[in-house]
Amino acid sequence: MILRMSNHPQNNTNLLARSLAAVWHPCSQMKHYEHFPLLPVARGSGAWLYDFGGKRYLDAVSSWWVNLFGHCNPRISAAITDQLGKLEHVMLAGFTHEPVVQLSERLRELAPVGLGHCFYASDGASATEIALKMSAHYWRNNGKPGKMQFISLENSYHGETLGALSVTDVALFRTAYGALIRQQATVSSPDWRKAAAGESAEAYALRCADDLEQHLQQHHAQLAAFIIEPLVQGAAGMAMYHPVYLQRARQLCAEYDVHLIADEIAVGMGRTGTLFACEQAPTLSRPTSFQGSKGITPDFLCLSKGITGGYLPLSVVMTRDEIYQAFYGDEMTSGFLHSHSYTGNPLACRAALATLDIFAQDNVLDANRNKAAYLNEIATPLREHRAVRNWRNTGMIWAFEVETPQRNFVQQCFALALENELLLRPIGNTIYFMPPYIINELEMDLLVSRTLRIVNELS
Ligand SMILES: *Cc1c(COP(=O)(O)O)cnc(C)c1O
Repeated sequence: MILRMSNHPQNNTNLLARSLAAVWHPCSQMKHYEHFPLLPVARGSGAWLYDFGGKRYLDAVSSWWVNLFGHCNPRISAAITDQLGKLEHVMLAGFTHEPVVQLSERLRELAPVGLGHCFYASDGASATEIALKMSAHYWRNNGKPGKMQFISLENSYHGETLGALSVTDVALFRTAYGALIRQQATVSSPDWRKAAAGESAEAYALRCADDLEQHLQQHHAQLAAFIIEPLVQGAAGMAMYHPVYLQRARQLCAEYDVHLIADEIAVGMGRTGTLFACEQAPTLSRPTSFQGSKGITPDFLCLSKGITGGYLPLSVVMTRDEIYQAFYGDEMTSGFLHSHSYTGNPLACRAALATLDIFAQDNVLDANRNKAAYLNEIATPLREHRAVRNWRNTGMIWAFEVETPQRNFVQQCFALALENELLLRPIGNTIYFMPPYIINELEMDLLVSRTLRIVNELS
């Protein structure tokens, strides 16, 4: 069924063969590329990627959820180019520079109130590691060294380094490394697909919060932190849940003296409709429908992926002053001694600043609300398709399951999507859209109509 290769020019085939010989590709069984070839990409522009034959592909998953404002965005490119003429990098221990200071100040302004201190790394998994280490170290510095365990949600994903894997509950990524990982407990996921028949998403979320409370009651003396993906569990297959769970988690963690780590690596930067997903948690003094509240403040907020608009690797862990103060003292050993070579890289910080500028200048969150409404409207035939289950949407994320007889649905769907000018990368039998925010109505029309065609063919 895959004929894509035949009309590619020679240099493309060549690149493919060289890649298979020299590059070990991530998240892949390399042998599968014998039947489902890699796609060599020549260039990108806006929401589109182009191969060497000039064929185009709509990047409906934002290149693994990182790209917010399109490929080769002129404004982000200009900012990086400007920075290249000034300072490409300097170590951040003992030194500082304008882009990292500015970025920290602006994130402090934008983030849930109280998160005044920014610690930088280069990728999401490292941000998870930092939050876990900082949390346990905080308790140690505060005379509670016994608090060094963590909990996460069922089907959680927080990265794949060994520490991050210990709070990741996706069997595919974990099984081979089980013996290397310090086992941590999970609590019930409020994913509304798991609700009982007739039970509302909110009622189910509250029931899961009771499960969390029971766990905290029993284990809080050993627990440093609860780590959670706010509103949407991405790698679980875009599992979505009611924001009341975040409110209850915030309340319960405070009550039982356990940190709350919000992993907004995927859902931050506007993806769920607000700049940060935590903003959507109803605060206690206000009704659920209250608009404009700033939601909950976690003890740690992890950001990465979209923070540089998808240009350069950068992550940041933001935390509260009280936590920062617990490390502040005369002894080197009470300080937080974590370090990465490229911490706070100036080029990446400039890309992040340019990304924040675009949010402000283009009123992106409002524009996205209109785009989401448009996509939901045109998606009716897809949503109502006989093979489509659990249609769901949060902000600029859409997902649904496909009832399909195909055994290797993931590869079939990926390949068929490419034939239809789409980059889709299903998780199991879940198809999701996570498009760049610059997607326009014509592109959304194409995304929906071609996906409908794919679903028809595979169901
Ligand atoms: C992608 C992701 C990570 C890991 O980020 P990497 O940069 O891939 O290491 C962690 N948590 C969540 C929720 C993610 O989606």
